[in-house]
Amino acid sequence: MSTPTLGTRRALPILSPGQVSGMRQELADVIEYRKSGLSLNWIVGCPLDCGYCVRHLFENFEMKVPRRLLSDEDAVIRLIGHRYFRPHKTPIQLLNRATDPMLPAVKPHLFNVLRLLDGQGLTNHVLVITRWRVTPEDCAVLNSFTHLRLTVLVTHSHIQDERIEPVDSTIAATSLRTLYQHADRYRTILYWRPIVPGLNDSAADIERAHDLSQHAHATVFTGLFFRDEIAAYYQAHGLAMPYQDTARRKILPAAAEQRILAAIGQDASWGALFRKTSCGVAYAHGEADYNGHYGIRELCDICPPQQIAKCQAAWVKPDLTAVTQEARGLGASGPIEVNDRAIVVEGLDEPPRYYLQHGFGYQCHDRAKPHHHRQHGRAPIGWTAENGTPAA
Ligand code: SF4
Repeated sequence: MSTPTLGTRRALPILSPGQVSGMRQELADVIEYRKSGLSLNWIVGCPLDCGYCVRHLFENFEMKVPRRLLSDEDAVIRLIGHRYFRPHKTPIQLLNRATDPMLPAVKPHLFNVLRLLDGQGLTNHVLVITRWRVTPEDCAVLNSFTHLRLTVLVTHSHIQDERIEPVDSTIAATSLRTLYQHADRYRTILYWRPIVPGLNDSAADIERAHDLSQHAHATVFTGLFFRDEIAAYYQAHGLAMPYQDTARRKILPAAAEQRILAAIGQDASWGALFRKTSCGVAYAHGEADYNGHYGIRELCDICPPQQIAKCQAAWVKPDLTAVTQEARGLGASGPIEVNDRAIVVEGLDEPPRYYLQHGFGYQCHDRAKPHHHRQHGRAPIGWTAENGTPAA
C-alpha cells in the first residue's frame, strides 16, 4: 500500500533560524547518539505534560505545540549523512525526546520520514516510542515498510497521579493491543516505565503489566529518570519526591526489581521480559542484542534460553588492535582495554562510545564512569555495593 501523506492536514511549521538559535543547544541539535540508537528529533513540542518528561532538561516543557526544526527531507539527509550513521547497522530512534511521534500533527511527518528511509532500502532498526493513540489504519502504514526493522514501543506506567501522569494509561494499553493485533512486518513492545516504588508497583500494577505482556512481542521494564531539573518541577508543583537524590542514570531500586521478578517468578504465562531496551527490540525481531549486553551476564538471568543462545553465538570479543585503531581515530586517550565484559576507553563521550558499541556489538564503557555489578546502566540509589554498604 502507499503511505498516506499529510493529506489535508497542514504540515507543521518550520521554525526560523532565529527561533532555533534561541533554543538550548541540545534541543537545536536534531541528532543525538543514544544507547538505543542514533536519535533524530526534528520536531519539538508536546501537549502531554508528563511530569517526568526529559523536556524539563532542555527548558522546553512549556512548548506545547509541536514545531519542526527541519523539513522531513532535510532531517533524513542530516541523519544518513551523520558521521556515525552506518547503513543497515546503526539503530535509529525517531522523535523520542521532545514530542510524541503519534500525536495527530506529528504522525504524518513520522510516516513521511519512515517512507523516505525505507525507500532507500535501509534495513536499520528503527525505534518509535509512544504513549498516544495508535489506530488500525496506523498499523497498516507501519506494516507497509518493507526494509526497515521497525519497532513501536508503547510506554505504559499506570501512575495514577494526574499531575505526574496526565495521560490516561488506558490509551497506551489500547494502542498496544491494537499494534499487537495488527503486527505483520513491525514489532511492538510493552515499555513498562517509569516504575516508581509506591506509585505503580503494587501487585495489581504487576498483574496489569502481566496482562499487557500478552499483547506484545516483548516487555521491557525500567525506572525513573530523575535529574535536578525534573526534581525542581516536582518541588514547584508540590509533588511528593520519589527519591531524595537525583542521578545521571535511571533509578530502579534493587528492592523494586526484586519484587517484580519475584511476582513473575517462574510464571511461563508472562511474555518475555527484559531489563534493556535493545534486548527487547532484538528479541522481538529474532536477533541477538545489538548492544552486546551479553557481556554483562547478570542482565541475562531473566532472558529466554533460546535468546541467550542466540546472543552467546553472536557475541565475539573484538580484537584489541582493531578496537584501538577505531577508538584512537575517534579521539580516545589513555589505555584501551577489551575485557570479558566490555571495551573500556578514556576521553570519549557517549556518541563515539555508542558508535564503537554498535559497530563491534560489544559494550563500550568509559573508565571514569564504571558500571557496577547488577546495576548496569542504573543509578546507585537503592542498591548496596558488593560489600553491603550503600552503593557509591
Ligand atoms: S541474552 Fe542477555 S544480551 Fe541477549 S537479549 Fe537476553 S538479556 Fe539481552
